[in-house]
Amino acid sequence: MRVVVVGAGLGGLGAAMRLQGAGHDVIVLEARARPGGRAYQLRDAGFTWDTGPSLVTMPWVLEETFEAAGLNLHDHVQLRRLDPFYRIRWAQSEEHLDFTGDRERMRAELAKFSARDAAAFDGFMAAMKPIYEQGILGAGRRPFERARDLVAFTPSMLRLGAALPLWRTVCSHFEHPRVREAFSFHSLFIGGDPFRVPAIYGALVYLQFLDEVWYAQGGVYAIVEAMARGLDMRCGERVERIEHRQGKVTGVVLEGAGRIDADVVVSNADVLRTHELTGQRAPVRRLTPTMSCFLLYLGTDRTFDSLLHHTLLVGSGYRRFIRDVTRRGRLAPTFSTYVHAPARSEPGMAAAGGDSLCVLLPVPNQRRHRIDWDSESDRVRDALVEDLETTFGLGGLDAATIVEHRMTPDDFERDLGAAWGNAFAVEPTLQQSAWLRPPNRDKTLRGLYYVGGGTHPGAGIPGVLLGAEVTTGMIARDHAAAGRGAHAAAPV
Ligand SMILES: Cc1cc2nc3c(=O)[nH]c(=O)nc-3n(C[C@H](O)[C@H](O)[C@H](O)COP(=O)(O)OP(=O)(O)OC[C@H]3O[C@@H](n4cnc5c(N)ncnc54)[C@H](O)[C@@H]3O)c2cc1C
Repeated sequence: MRVVVVGAGLGGLGAAMRLQGAGHDVIVLEARARPGGRAYQLRDAGFTWDTGPSLVTMPWVLEETFEAAGLNLHDHVQLRRLDPFYRIRWAQSEEHLDFTGDRERMRAELAKFSARDAAAFDGFMAAMKPIYEQGILGAGRRPFERARDLVAFTPSMLRLGAALPLWRTVCSHFEHPRVREAFSFHSLFIGGDPFRVPAIYGALVYLQFLDEVWYAQGGVYAIVEAMARGLDMRCGERVERIEHRQGKVTGVVLEGAGRIDADVVVSNADVLRTHELTGQRAPVRRLTPTMSCFLLYLGTDRTFDSLLHHTLLVGSGYRRFIRDVTRRGRLAPTFSTYVHAPARSEPGMAAAGGDSLCVLLPVPNQRRHRIDWDSESDRVRDALVEDLETTFGLGGLDAATIVEHRMTPDDFERDLGAAWGNAFAVEPTLQQSAWLRPPNRDKTLRGLYYVGGGTHPGAGIPGVLLGAEVTTGMIARDHAAAGRGAHAAAPV
């Protein structure tokens, strides 16, 4: 069977590896010059930056993806455990909280803020365990094809409180405002509003303590390169149209010239825009995209030792910051950022004696109000760097910066085809999860499937790779059913 995968993001690569491992003839078509999608890489003057994801969790999901392709992850990628996972710092304060997989040390970290919260840690973890097992391991690995799949799943989730707002759950366990912020921010890594996501996303904290946080030598891009290596990977090939006849896909048409026959097309393009490729009408139900990001990639001629490998910098007015960036769709007056400084773990990521820093600032997507980034970009950059210097003690950052790149919502839109410049695809809310998320198989066109952050289960490295497992599992079942002539099962 010939399968064309449209897009070489991590989800597209994961699906391609699994399908090739299953013996199919797989071609991956990527519009950009290199694979990776959001997980791209920039190199300049001795500095290397991962442009997007940097925090590697659930390494067994990567192991299983490689295994499905007949490969051993550890022959291709060197993973190192990070301890601590990351540090959280607050504006104008010497206080910090280090997340570590060592529970004794973690309790000691919490005790710096509240003895009661240190004692509450085990209770919070115990509450998250079944949510993780049923909500992430159970539901994240199986398709939600029919409403009755959701109906079967809902009672246990309700019983566990997984549908309640995470913020409320966190507040019921912890009393200190900083500890509450520290245990609820994780959904930001997949574009979720920490004050509004359901408690199921609390499992993101739990899984870190279970499987720890890892660094791939060479950065996340080393994983991308290892995934792409054995595939028929064709870069610089933008798919303009997914062809279909009598309700079944027949191939893809490339921008410029050329077409490729396909029995199955797996689209890793933004699900909010794939109808543009098929010529179908836009979905009636309006799904909301996540926030976007403003990213600075800085190469400095000295190190900034107050930063760990991963540091979260929580600005004053954090709650308002989140509201402005998500619901109000406008730039916030204060900055809460995340900084990746991989030279801590691998000096070769920066030029000698320097740091390669990636500063991630959540900003609104372009849907509600269009921000003119051509004019705003310099202003935001200068204000952000000044804030890092004055509020978070990175004095001299501007002067030390010798190389610099940036990425705005316009780049997400133009380079990745992301609807309204979203950074993490479809917003993870209760109304847009599981059966209510865009499905992994198209509802009308046979042979068309989806993979990536916008489909079930969702964004993040493990999210899209689990999604690849769900999607390719569907393809295998549909293919087998077609072989048996069982057309009722939406065969390919
Ligand atoms: C700044 C940032 C930081 C993040 N940090 C983390 C983190 O630390 N840990 C974590 O687990 N996750 C993180 N994430 C989330 C994670 O990176 C994403 O969820 C994941 O990489 C998305 O993969 P995807 O499969 O959806 O593909 P995408 O990355 O969206 O790639 C899709 C690909 O399809 C291509 N494409 C689109 N249309 C076409 C077409 N018509 N023809 C050909 N090609 C096409 C695009 O060019 C692109 O390469 C982060 C994301 C961002 C943006």
